[in-house]
Amino acid sequence: MPATDTTRGPAGTAVLPALRFENVVKRFGDHTVLDGLNFEVAKGERVTLIGPSGSGKTTILRLVMTLEHLTDGFIYVDGDPLTHELRGGRRVERRPKDVARLTTKIGMVFQQFNLFPNMTVLENITEAPVHVLGRSKGEAERRARELLDQVGLADKAHAHPTRLSGGQQQRVAIARALAMDPEILLLDEVTSALDPELVGEVLGVLRDVARSTDITMLIVTHEMQFAAEVSDRVLMFDQGRIVEDAPPGVMFSDPGEERTQAFLQAVL
Ligand code: ADP
Repeated sequence: MPATDTTRGPAGTAVLPALRFENVVKRFGDHTVLDGLNFEVAKGERVTLIGPSGSGKTTILRLVMTLEHLTDGFIYVDGDPLTHELRGGRRVERRPKDVARLTTKIGMVFQQFNLFPNMTVLENITEAPVHVLGRSKGEAERRARELLDQVGLADKAHAHPTRLSGGQQQRVAIARALAMDPEILLLDEVTSALDPELVGEVLGVLRDVARSTDITMLIVTHEMQFAAEVSDRVLMFDQGRIVEDAPPGVMFSDPGEERTQAFLQAVL
């Protein structure tokens, strides 16, 4: 299908998908992780990737964040080729400044928080808005304080991340991602590194983000209850392929594929 495929928006206007994978191939050495993957995420849609460990879910998020090099194929953000495009019938890399323009639309929250340990919470959140988006320090700090309030950490603005619990650090990481006003938010097993009693506070914040914004979300999680609550669609992966693509009500109660049934039986 061509990259210009569209769906219709509410007013009959053409709306491009927020994300589109076209024949995406990813190899690490001679290990092929993704072998011609195709899927789309509509604007505002929340899509969760589930499946066994090693099936390529995190690699998909890292490709969108341009943290991994795309071996072949194309990824489109709002219809715009992200890292590679067809020019004169040849697949060529895009210029770094074109890639950067698109990656500023994308935020990611990692399993291991990845906060800057030598900066305060406030500095962590304002760094990119000031240096990447060119916002004034005052404006960035105002927004950061609003976001800290939203994630329940208004009193931690001047703390250093190492003094915070894992759950608090992850809430700062969520605020940091939101401070860039992303159109697309990638969540990579954001509760997997947390002690069980800290998982709830992080999922609570994410439920709130899902409810109160129209940010497109691509989520990798083992928290099936959370996936069921926030997702519009769930994609079951196995060995780099989509085994099943269904709304959560179907995926979690009445999956059509044996592979999905076996996986869910093992994890639920
Ligand atoms: P999942 O998120 O579904 O657990 P991943 O995307 O993390 O799966 O990994 C998919 C496969 O790619 C695994 O076999 C993993 O070992 C491999 N892989 C991921 N990152 C690298 C890397 N940087 N170098 C080599 N192999 C990798």
